[in-house]
Amino acid sequence: MADKECDALVIGAGPGGYVCAIRLGQLKQRTILVEKAWIGGTCLQVGCIPSKALISAAKFYEKLQHASEFGVQVQGASIDFKKMVAWERSIVEKFTGGVRQLLKANNVEVLFYGGYHTEGGLIVRQMREQGLKARMVAGDALFIPEFWSITGNAGEGTLASFSPDPRNNKEAAAVVKKFRDQGYEPEGYTLYSYAAVQAWAQAAATAKSTDAKKVAAALKSGTFSTVLGKISFDKKGDIKGETYMMYEWTKGALKPIKKISS
Ligand SMILES: Cc1cc2nc3c(=O)[nH]c(=O)nc-3n(C[C@H](O)[C@H](O)[C@H](O)COP(=O)(O)OP(=O)(O)OC[C@H]3O[C@@H](n4cnc5c(N)ncnc54)[C@H](O)[C@@H]3O)c2cc1C
Repeated sequence: MADKECDALVIGAGPGGYVCAIRLGQLKQRTILVEKAWIGGTCLQVGCIPSKALISAAKFYEKLQHASEFGVQVQGASIDFKKMVAWERSIVEKFTGGVRQLLKANNVEVLFYGGYHTEGGLIVRQMREQGLKARMVAGDALFIPEFWSITGNAGEGTLASFSPDPRNNKEAAAVVKKFRDQGYEPEGYTLYSYAAVQAWAQAAATAKSTDAKKVAAALKSGTFSTVLGKISFDKKGDIKGETYMMYEWTKGALKPIKKISS
């Protein structure tokens, strides 16, 4: 992945952030907009717009209850909540679609997304439907096959970071075989969790205790043989020399493209 340079990095695609990013684009500044959940922020997604839509529907219903007082007879008025919410979401969609159009028109190049695949998949699909080419970059939440089920080809080129796949480690071979023999594919964080238990067990053996403080002290000072290889921890408790991979969604699969050292 090429490193991205920009003149301005805007965090949050709410009314504060997207207006700022659009204005920067208009001023010919190369802008990256970072958003962890949704385009439009509180205001467009859960605040001003959806609340006013639901309030207006509720007020209308309330008025109908008193219609006979001013000579209008209405019978059988009831609330179909599912329909009301669908109508509310369609209004939100119109507004956020408008924001995506503006981002497109003002050349926003990258959208960093910190939420889950359910919304992320929809956002990237809608971005492509509206011709917004900005690349979505995200964390491990998009490292899941369901992301592609939502996006289809619209997900092509989306970047997601994750740790290197430990299933390929020679230290993990026996454990991986054991999992597979039992019909379980040790994907995702499986082997990372396995390594955590291995490190903890070795630290407890060194400490000759399961007392949390003593085990923690042993964890801080030791080196442990795990399915990830030999690991030790720094003062903050992070694994020393940890690396990450940047993966790119390519034809429905995640392709590793760059290793990043911590
Ligand atoms: C129910 C309700 C009704 C409202 N009604 C009105 C109204 O009628 N009129 C009115 O003027 N105001 C109303 N508001 C207030 C309005 O929603 C806020 O003033 C407005 O959304 C603030 O905009 P913002 O861009 O500053 O923040 P937000 O809209 O909150 O946007 C911030 C964005 O930043 C993202 N973000 C946060 N941290 C990170 C991070 N670390 N990395 C990446 N992204 C991040 C969030 O996901 C979010 O999308 C209402 C609010 C609520 C809750």
